[in-house]
Amino acid sequence: MAAPYPATQPMPPYPTGPPPPPGAYGMQQPPPAYVPPPVIIKTTALGSHPCTMQCSHCQAMITTNVSYTTGVGAWVICLLICFFVGPWGCCFIPFCVDSCKDATHTCPNCHATLGTKTVM
Ligand SMILES: [Zn+2]
Repeated sequence: MAAPYPATQPMPPYPTGPPPPPGAYGMQQPPPAYVPPPVIIKTTALGSHPCTMQCSHCQAMITTNVSYTTGVGAWVICLLICFFVGPWGCCFIPFCVDSCKDATHTCPNCHATLGTKTVM
């Protein structure tokens, strides 16, 4: 016996629509605007004292301004002195000696930070 109805594909129980567009799953953060990272060159070429160089920003030959900040290196040296000499040793010396501090070189012409010489 032949089937009374032609063998047609039954309709799917639920239609398969197009996939949801991206971003439909909750609120998505918009892509952040591109912010160029600050150009801070950590180099060993710069010492603890002002040096004459060509500024990479204004291309002028300048002698860098150096500002000293107490960085991690001074604290490490302080702890080492405390450990080996004692808490009443000369552990404060790193905070007084510029060579134990981080030296930040800035351009006197355009005031750009050219590099930081760290102790560690
Ligand atoms: Zn400059």
